[in-house]
Amino acid sequence: MREGLMMDDYPLSLTRIVERAEQFSPGRRVAFRRPDGSVGHTSFGEGIARARRLASALAELGIGAGDAVATLLFNQPEHLELYFALPAMGAVLHTLNPRLHHEELSFIVNDAQDRAIIVDETLLAVFEAFHPARSFEHVIVVRAGDDPLPEGYVDFEALIASAAPMSWPAEDELRAAAMCYTSGTTGRPKGVVYSHRALALHSLMGALPDLMDISRRDVILPVVPMFHANAWGLIYTAALIGSGLVLPGPRLDAESVLDLFESERVTMSAGVPTVWMAILQALDAEPDRWDLGSITRMIVGGAAPSKGMMRGFDRHGLRLIQGWGMTETSPLGSVSRPGLELEDASEEELVDDRVRQGIACPLVEIRGRRDDGELIPWDDAAMGELEVRGPWVARAYHGGQGADKFTEDGWFRTGDVVCINALGNLRICDRSKDLIKSGGEWISSVDLENLLMSHPDVAEAAVIAMPDERWGERPLAVVVVRAGATVEADALREHLAREYAKWQLPDRFEFVSEIPRTATGKFKKTALRELFVSQTV
Ligand code: ADP
Repeated sequence: MREGLMMDDYPLSLTRIVERAEQFSPGRRVAFRRPDGSVGHTSFGEGIARARRLASALAELGIGAGDAVATLLFNQPEHLELYFALPAMGAVLHTLNPRLHHEELSFIVNDAQDRAIIVDETLLAVFEAFHPARSFEHVIVVRAGDDPLPEGYVDFEALIASAAPMSWPAEDELRAAAMCYTSGTTGRPKGVVYSHRALALHSLMGALPDLMDISRRDVILPVVPMFHANAWGLIYTAALIGSGLVLPGPRLDAESVLDLFESERVTMSAGVPTVWMAILQALDAEPDRWDLGSITRMIVGGAAPSKGMMRGFDRHGLRLIQGWGMTETSPLGSVSRPGLELEDASEEELVDDRVRQGIACPLVEIRGRRDDGELIPWDDAAMGELEVRGPWVARAYHGGQGADKFTEDGWFRTGDVVCINALGNLRICDRSKDLIKSGGEWISSVDLENLLMSHPDVAEAAVIAMPDERWGERPLAVVVVRAGATVEADALREHLAREYAKWQLPDRFEFVSEIPRTATGKFKKTALRELFVSQTV
């Protein structure tokens, strides 16, 4: 054999994906809902032409290779244009989650050193709440009208109108293309930085039949926000493959989404269980209202879907398919689809299989590890923390934070506790990270506890996740009041509201005389959960 490189070391980059969409699917439709409810249409070709001009305009503002640019936008065409423009021009697309508390956002934009931000006008209040903590060099506003903008703000459309199209610079597949922050169990969010290579491979893999099965005949409606882990990869996969897109904007209520499914002949969609629960209720209430004949599957992930929900959709002839993933895994880690082994399985066995988190994506390796460091056998009984590694799995966080989440031999520790069966099919049974996931968004119990315990009348506080049909989980605070003091739940809620968004506040406060502890002195949350969950049911 001859030595050396015999095949082209063609860069695996998002630039190539953008170019492919431009060349092979310029006419592919992108439908979108505006904040006023009206629906508009554009195309990949138009979006990329605008992205090229946007990139030149940003370069003229001084945005260069490696610079992070924040977006505070919904699933809307301007966000799509930035998904194309920023990585292709060599900059870094940093999507911000407007649902976070302003303190958290302020920390995040500071940590990422974002040089500019693009904000939808409907999110200006969110922006102004965290903005004073960091001065962006450029604030660019996406808006419908053309009233004069406040001093220092630039109009998105004016920017595009002013510039000539950019020829994309040479790319390097290992360069940063995008970043997204993830909530930690304690302390501050941590930045995950995606390389071009990771996202290009993720886009390709996401289209596989055993994953999301995406083709040029698909019309994809991501309900999952574009600020959540690359909208689960759907945007770049659609561009690579040439599928149509439907961007629902800020209106994510069941009726608005179902209307778009019907009018845009959507074939696949993706969202968290809370979204699907609301949609199922709307369908149950009016089963004949929408013609959903075009839909062939809906991906559910971000939290575990129930068998009841799967069966509920089956009754409407709609197929929910579960995926597991994390911000750190770009995010697709595994998808649950039956293989030939289940050819003769009963309905019941198939549903049992569908609620498992599934088989790791090709090229993603998995293993489970017990507290004592031993790896678990794949017998579907032993439990251990899931560790993963692969070409689109993080190797470190931005700035070297959270180094303890990575093993010495390069695996990422997920904080999910799993059993693995003989086929390598995952089942999440617990979570070792002390977090609550409500409607697909995280709440850190430890941070809530610390803030509660900073209240002068509180001696101790533990926050646990309570199962909730609509939101998946909701926080419950268990509080020991300081001797001689009295305090009401409302006062504690007000105290927490200074640092937490409203939806993050505990729904319930339980006052107790003592919180059970483990041998090592930690709160025994399992005992609390048993106590209060059994009280509720
Ligand atoms: P995302 O933005 O995709 O929700 P996060 O990084 O915020 O990603 O959350 C990842 C975590 O969400 C996982 O570690 C796991 O705890 C939970 N999760 C994701 N998908 C599932 C699923 N299908 N079933 C159960 N839990 C899930």
